[in-house]
Amino acid sequence: MLFKTHSAAVFGVDAYLVEVEVDVGPGQSGYFNVVGLPDIAVKESRERVKAALKNCGFDYPGHQSVTVNLAPADIRKEGSAFDLPMALSLLGCQGTFFGKALGDYVFLGELSLDGTVRSVRGALSAAIAARDRRIRNVVVPEANAREAAVVEGIHVFAVKSLPQAADLVNSPESFAPTRVDTQKMLSDAGAYPVDLRDVRGQQSAKRALEIACAGGHNILFIGPPGAGKTMLAKRIPTILPPMSLDEAIETTRIHSVAGVLEDSRGLVGTRPYRSPHHTISDAGLIGGGAVPRPGEVSLGHNGVLFLDELPEFQRNVLEVLRQPLEDGVVSIARAALSVSFPARFMLAAAMNPCPCGFFGDPTRDCHCSPTQIQRYISKISGPLLDRIDIHIEVPAVKYKELREGNAAEPSASVRERVIAARAIQLERFKGERKIYANSQMPPKLLRKHCEISAEGEKLLESAIQKLGLSARAHDRILKVARTIADLDSASAIEPRHLSEAIQYRTLDRTYWA
Ligand SMILES: [Zn+2]
Repeated sequence: MLFKTHSAAVFGVDAYLVEVEVDVGPGQSGYFNVVGLPDIAVKESRERVKAALKNCGFDYPGHQSVTVNLAPADIRKEGSAFDLPMALSLLGCQGTFFGKALGDYVFLGELSLDGTVRSVRGALSAAIAARDRRIRNVVVPEANAREAAVVEGIHVFAVKSLPQAADLVNSPESFAPTRVDTQKMLSDAGAYPVDLRDVRGQQSAKRALEIACAGGHNILFIGPPGAGKTMLAKRIPTILPPMSLDEAIETTRIHSVAGVLEDSRGLVGTRPYRSPHHTISDAGLIGGGAVPRPGEVSLGHNGVLFLDELPEFQRNVLEVLRQPLEDGVVSIARAALSVSFPARFMLAAAMNPCPCGFFGDPTRDCHCSPTQIQRYISKISGPLLDRIDIHIEVPAVKYKELREGNAAEPSASVRERVIAARAIQLERFKGERKIYANSQMPPKLLRKHCEISAEGEKLLESAIQKLGLSARAHDRILKVARTIADLDSASAIEPRHLSEAIQYRTLDRTYWA
């Protein structure tokens, strides 16, 4: 007796449909084989499926031979989501469904030994794959129902247990599909627990942050421990424009296939903030594994990647950041396959000014030698530094500022200015492919949109010569000046915009000269 249904497997951020065929027939008693490139978790399905069937009071054809084929057979199958379709197909083989066909269903779910259906990775991508193949019904674990139901044009059914899934197949009319209001989900999930108002003082750092967000510029904070660099970075998402539904779905898919989506949310509605520790491996940062899973750069897609204590990261780890910073995507090559994950994020980084942390601090003594400081700073490679437009000093907060009663500006009003500046840029780059913000301008567009007056030219030239700014600083300054002018609603870059932009090259000025 042969029975077929569908499931789905994750590949990159996409899922593809897998046909689950189960054959039960005469042969060796107790034989249960899974073919079609299963990994270890899939092979272990045998034990879970057997136990779940028995513990739920179903018959298991123990005196016969069972063969499961997962097709297409040439792609490696990973994970435990095939448990549920295998168990249901075994029931189908035994006539439980009175000859009903399950060709119009996709099933996903891991079974525990007592028949409870557990959550799986990638339910949203699986639902998209089902819709694309015009399969109408997608049956998922309860914890995954909201994320899958975001996909329109299909029926998503949530099940808690194997018997409930069997009931659903027998009498679908008594089950209601899960419905969600995606716009409401997005607005419900769109609130941040933190606000820029929480940060006392640090006016110039906040200004730099606003400029960074307005032009999509990467930013580096330099300051002693405890000055509030992390607090500032955590609040970057709160002043970036709100996520669109498309962005939210993109980000949710990545979090879902990585297995880090919170069950209750169903949709990632706030811009992600990822802050991996400096001991992270390159695979952890850009993604990896036998069947590759997304790394931190992809989990930060459409949000912020914050690297605290930047010089402490392994050099090879920082080097792998260059591709996503350049292309907004990471490719992971494996012997038989290559996977790409989206990775468009804003990079924020922080560092102490010297190994002890107090270089330049008027209240504390720094005991580091110039050589020690130079060695510390030079751990950050030039090419990485080249991709960070804004460097800003974050000094220790003065006691007076901490005690000040007047409230700081809330994120919401800073965000309004950021949105207005972004609107100008969207208009500016309307005809360009994949360019949305000033930070992304290639040299050709830089020349077109960053013209400066003779006076500005003189200012920039003298800054580069007198302050000893490196040559790499030149283009960065122009891009940042363009953003400052946009925040000012000025169509031309004026000398004052340039002089502010020049200030944001601390590292070129202080250390690299
Ligand atoms: Zn020091």
